[in-house]
Amino acid sequence: MRIEAAGATDVGQVRRINQDAYLLGYSAFAVADGMGGHQAGEVASAAALEPVAELDGRVFADPEAARQALVDAFVTANRMVTDMSADDPDYRGMGTTLTAVLFEGRRLHLGHTGDSRAYLVRDGQLRQLTTDHTLVQHLIDEGQITPAEAAIHPQRSIITRAIGVAADVQVDTETFEIQSGDRLLLCSDGLTGVVPDEQLAQLLLEVESPQALAETLIERANAGGGHDNITAVVVDFVEEGAGTTTAGASASVAGDGQDRAPLQVRTSETRSGDDWARRLSQLGALGSPEDPDAADTGPRRATAIAIAVVLLLVLAGLGGRWLLSRSYYVGLQHDRVAIYQGVPVELGPLNLSWVVERTSVHVDELPAYYVEALRDGIPAIDRRDARLIIENRPQRPEGTTPAQPSPSPSPTETPATP
Ligand code: MN
Repeated sequence: MRIEAAGATDVGQVRRINQDAYLLGYSAFAVADGMGGHQAGEVASAAALEPVAELDGRVFADPEAARQALVDAFVTANRMVTDMSADDPDYRGMGTTLTAVLFEGRRLHLGHTGDSRAYLVRDGQLRQLTTDHTLVQHLIDEGQITPAEAAIHPQRSIITRAIGVAADVQVDTETFEIQSGDRLLLCSDGLTGVVPDEQLAQLLLEVESPQALAETLIERANAGGGHDNITAVVVDFVEEGAGTTTAGASASVAGDGQDRAPLQVRTSETRSGDDWARRLSQLGALGSPEDPDAADTGPRRATAIAIAVVLLLVLAGLGGRWLLSRSYYVGLQHDRVAIYQGVPVELGPLNLSWVVERTSVHVDELPAYYVEALRDGIPAIDRRDARLIIENRPQRPEGTTPAQPSPSPSPTETPATP
């Protein structure tokens, strides 16, 4: 049996930086979707691929050794990313998803954490191999919402597990036998959040070449809005002797390595420091209302991880308060700015935050966009950071109408001409 593989990644139509990365190896393949400001997202996703890349081409004594090596790679990736964010303030709060496969003989070992996905096409059927570690998946499992509702749920990007956000990482693993004709897809949520499963299945069954398929998937996601970075890795298992004209990586699983494809690790080349998400690391620096990236989901997503980690701990009753007590944000209490401990989320009757410090700063002093941000909660690393955020708050330009402290959008959002 021979493996033919191809991968593609694209920044999409909205973001300015591609924080996705993929690994296209000989026996190891992976997708990582990074998050965090100040280039931290790209750093996290690229770093997470390194330990997986080290497994590429390795021979294992038995299936369990291979599976364990894959789990170890996740643990190493987690340590690398958490160490980096501990060492460098610019990298605080960064994290990444990681979905990786390792081939060992005719077996496939799958490791997964986050909301990137692995799919298998076998006998004309598409099967999702991974379960998303997301809040909405949790709600689906609980029977509270349907998958259709999850697809449009406002909190659908909240992920409950990731590499680099905690000392421990939980990895889902699965091992199964490969059959000739199998096709594997690894992808980031920039694809699956846009292209529905039915369309995905159709393309996976119709497009023959892995390279053409990977590119087509990217095109579809871009055509659907491309609101996130998009990555697709396609791996085909072809019976030896079957003719092929496929471009892209091609290698024999049990071969002598003569035709071994070069290891490809694709990460973002972009190094423009303009990502609004840098707010997480640059104290108090918020996007201006003119900044189109102010709507970027980077920091929201990083906050989302923190929220979700807390959420699961709370739900599991495992001393969630401990972690909760380590989260702060700046928000509004009535019409004054306040520092909150906890996370700006309400779970039915559960309110997961409380005011720890009130200020005399009134919403009337602030620009409308900033008041909006306060309503969502501006994440702070700690209480000191929260104070700095408040100290560095922007002033409402002279001659503009104050923002209303009501939760509904008001006509005062746009500053009036002086
Ligand atoms: Mn993504």
